[in-house]
Amino acid sequence: MGTINVSKEYTLKERTYLPALFQGMFITMKRFIQGFILHKKYTIMYPEEKRIYSQRFRGMHFISVDENKVENCTACFLCETVCPAECIHIVAMERDPATNPYGVRKEKKPLSFDLDVMRCCFCGFCEEACPMDAIKLSRNYELSVLSRQEAIYDLKYLTREVIGRG
Ligand code: SF4
Ligand code: SF4
Repeated sequence: MGTINVSKEYTLKERTYLPALFQGMFITMKRFIQGFILHKKYTIMYPEEKRIYSQRFRGMHFISVDENKVENCTACFLCETVCPAECIHIVAMERDPATNPYGVRKEKKPLSFDLDVMRCCFCGFCEEACPMDAIKLSRNYELSVLSRQEAIYDLKYLTREVIGRG
């Protein structure tokens, strides 16, 4: 089997390390002066202060509800099918035709809808694929949880009122 030589010839400047060392010290001193003397801030006091993210930022998922607080999802499985991370799992059921005010528009509903956010890569494909504008990604980036189980969002969690949906 052949081999290739990937070693690199270093210049005198790189071999002495001194220019890089002084450059690093210069940046440290510059930040020190800006921070302590000029009171310029590079960090924020999170969570009291929060950064403003782009309108296009994709964060925590939610499922929209209609005026009757009924989820807009019709369990069509498009989001589950398109999801590259395979993190959506839906079990569908039929709405009772006798009591369904929506008719064929919402014949089915999710019996369960689980989204494993730890597998999600926030590609937004589920939102794009949804014909009902049901599943959406909000601008809420506060996704930390205390247990693995809490990272699996169920239907109740996904349809709750979320601060920062916009
Ligand atoms: S954002 Fe992408 S990875 Fe995450 S649930 Fe939707 S389709 Fe799957
Ligand atoms: S969220 Fe949208 S795409 Fe996913 S199953 Fe429900 S209606 Fe279909």
